[in-house]
Amino acid sequence: MEATDTIVALATPPGRGALAVVRVSGPGTRAILQALIPGWEGRAEERRPVLARLIDPRDESLLDRALVTFFPGPNSYTGEDLAEISTHGGTLVPALVADAIEGSGARAARPGEFTQRAYLNGKLDLVQAEGVRDLVEARSEALHRVALHQVEGGLSRRLSDIREALVGLEALLVHHLDFPEEDDPPVPLERVIGEGRALLGTLDALLATAPEGELLREGALVVLAGRPNAGKSSLFNALLGQERAIVNEQPGTTRDAVEAQVSLGGYPFRLVDTAGIRGDAGETERLGIEVARRYLRAADVVLLCVSTEWGWGAIEEHFLSELREDAAVVALRTKCDRDGGRGATLPEGEAQGADPRIRKVLSVSALGGTGLGEVGAALRELVFAGSVEPSGSVPVLTRRRQTRGVEVARREVAAFVDALRSGVPAEMAATHLRPAETALEDLLGVISPDEVLDRLFSEFCIGK
Ligand code: GDP
Repeated sequence: MEATDTIVALATPPGRGALAVVRVSGPGTRAILQALIPGWEGRAEERRPVLARLIDPRDESLLDRALVTFFPGPNSYTGEDLAEISTHGGTLVPALVADAIEGSGARAARPGEFTQRAYLNGKLDLVQAEGVRDLVEARSEALHRVALHQVEGGLSRRLSDIREALVGLEALLVHHLDFPEEDDPPVPLERVIGEGRALLGTLDALLATAPEGELLREGALVVLAGRPNAGKSSLFNALLGQERAIVNEQPGTTRDAVEAQVSLGGYPFRLVDTAGIRGDAGETERLGIEVARRYLRAADVVLLCVSTEWGWGAIEEHFLSELREDAAVVALRTKCDRDGGRGATLPEGEAQGADPRIRKVLSVSALGGTGLGEVGAALRELVFAGSVEPSGSVPVLTRRRQTRGVEVARREVAAFVDALRSGVPAEMAATHLRPAETALEDLLGVISPDEVLDRLFSEFCIGK
């Protein structure tokens, strides 16, 4: 599978900056360094940065003075000969260097191609590669920790352990089957069933991390709802800590939904400010209202904003009627700096007949900045309630691909246990174990169709 061509890419984002890193990987790396750096052979030190003048071999022009680090394969990120060239930043210098490298026999890398080569050379498995992508894209500390744990092999180890346990289960079954005539075979059926059940427990614990794990990547959807002028946009901005949405005095002017990503207390949220849902609306506004309804139904948490000016009424009840049965609502007394800080009276507590979907009632003032921390804490509590360890030391499923694979394994192991318990001959029950192992092997990419690989790596950024 060894690559024969050499690839080059800018590994840092283009644009103004102090430094840029150009990466080269493949069998031609040494020759390229020799072509670009006069006297390179004598000065090259493996895995150590060397300050060098880079020239364009086509016309001998000086390109930059740069730090060049050469990593001979297999001790490199890709497992091939690889060089990282730290040039001066900006748009031109790194582009000229990359161009000179292309002129010396390399070709431009496709997105994710460096990581794909690392995978093909056995430097990391598919789950780790996915962790690399999440790490690069992480916008919250929580995903950062989980992704790093994944890159370090945490989830991969858990999956291989489960796979090994499956192989062990097969071996146990063989022992059980080897002594069919004896009343008391060395491995009683009960033990096989017991181990199968224990494995189910491990798979269930892993699957339990998926809902929160997947939200860690996407960000939990938090929708601000309430009448026009209830203070939604102001709260939206206050939570973002920056002026992103337009705050307007006129009711019904936020026509569409405004969405922003924000990390609250280290956890990722997608904050959406919607148009107020009202009866008498013009065409444009109705479109906005439709958008708002869709968001409301999809929301992980709804922040229902109720201003002191009107208090709780029919419109608020109407908002509740738009929500899913299992929706979580935080009712907010907004503008609590007014009215002597009393704020609106909101229905609270199921005992008092309040809607059970109202999980919390809080007071906030976007203007004074009070209560914002409590809103963040309530959101974290409601969405990230515990299956994602804050320390990031427990494996977490963060992608549908991972969850689906573990679900297949779980289904097959459950079928195996059920079959044994209902008296199906052990040889037949055992046919469920192999597909469970295959599901985990596919996840790790022990054997993976090219198509899956290409799709997975094409989502990476270039230079990674
Ligand atoms: P929206 O229509 O629900 O998005 O409401 P806005 O955020 O546009 O706010 C409506 C009005 O209430 C504006 O005049 C804001 O300045 C005012 N307002 C918003 N939040 C507060 C607050 O915390 N305290 C006070 N005193 N006024 C606020």
